[in-house]
Amino acid sequence: MVKSASPPDRYGLLGHPVEHSRSPLIHQLFARQTGQRLTYELIDATPQGFETAVLAFSAAGGKGLNVTVPHKQAAFELAREVSAAASKARAVNTLTFGGKALRGDNTDGTGFLRDVTVNQRQPIAGRSVLILGAGGAARGIMGPLLEAGPRELALANRTSERADQIVKQFRAHGKVTPIPFAHLDTLAPFDIVINATSAGLKGDAAPFPGTLIGPRSFCYDLVYSLNDTPFVIWARNHGAERAVQGWGMLVEQAAESFHIWRGVRPDTAPILKQLVR
Ligand code: NAP
Repeated sequence: MVKSASPPDRYGLLGHPVEHSRSPLIHQLFARQTGQRLTYELIDATPQGFETAVLAFSAAGGKGLNVTVPHKQAAFELAREVSAAASKARAVNTLTFGGKALRGDNTDGTGFLRDVTVNQRQPIAGRSVLILGAGGAARGIMGPLLEAGPRELALANRTSERADQIVKQFRAHGKVTPIPFAHLDTLAPFDIVINATSAGLKGDAAPFPGTLIGPRSFCYDLVYSLNDTPFVIWARNHGAERAVQGWGMLVEQAAESFHIWRGVRPDTAPILKQLVR
């Protein structure tokens, strides 16, 4: 009798909602490229069901989970040990199970920085940077951005208390200036403008003053879509030198998670090309 091979290792993405996620495709392409045997599934869980879903996946032999909106802070609370990046962000997007251990990492920031500085060839050091938004994604990118040495880092959020909270949280890591949303139209253009809000997700226009953009501005939308996003359209309409979407960050943060889980780093360039084609 031929012995059956052991089942492939199980990974997945846990969020709410998750049905439109590209992560299964990305991880399948990584696995094929690097010769790894694994499955990657989508798990929809509400905030009330988050912990039960994580523990059930682990108990069933799952090896690791990516975590997305709205669970990144809950994942941080649940993890027994966390990486420096997750600790700074107080948010976890990658959980790794090993026996009783439950480790949390945050790969959003490194994925973002890699896309901006390597794929897009945009240096951060010495440049003025504005982040719009103060949710989990903004927190994830803040640490790596500060480490990259911008001349100025400003943060503006519709709900100013959330921006103030982040500024306080990152005080020990560098200077971040909170900007009230209502004062955005009094500022000079920034070298780099990052949209880390979910504004415009439903197709409505980006709610920011065009004066933030100058002819040398590089604009980065964390949001990604098969069509131009409202932020990218807004940035181009106001004369930005370049405006790009967050596909690269999506692939790079996934590659970081894959590396944590499998110990091998996929080559992201062909995967990114295949994804946006
Ligand atoms: P989140 O924690 O829910 O935060 C949402 C943010 O958007 C908050 O700052 C919120 O402001 C702001 N916002 C929502 N609607 C707005 C509006 N109409 N006008 C102005 N601000 C508005 O979400 P998140 O995890 O930070 O994610 C933010 C975006 O980044 C999402 O679209 C997500 O898909 C994207 N993302 C992309 C990647 C990638 O790999 N490319 C990775 C992570 C996240 P308030 O605080 O005032 O509500």
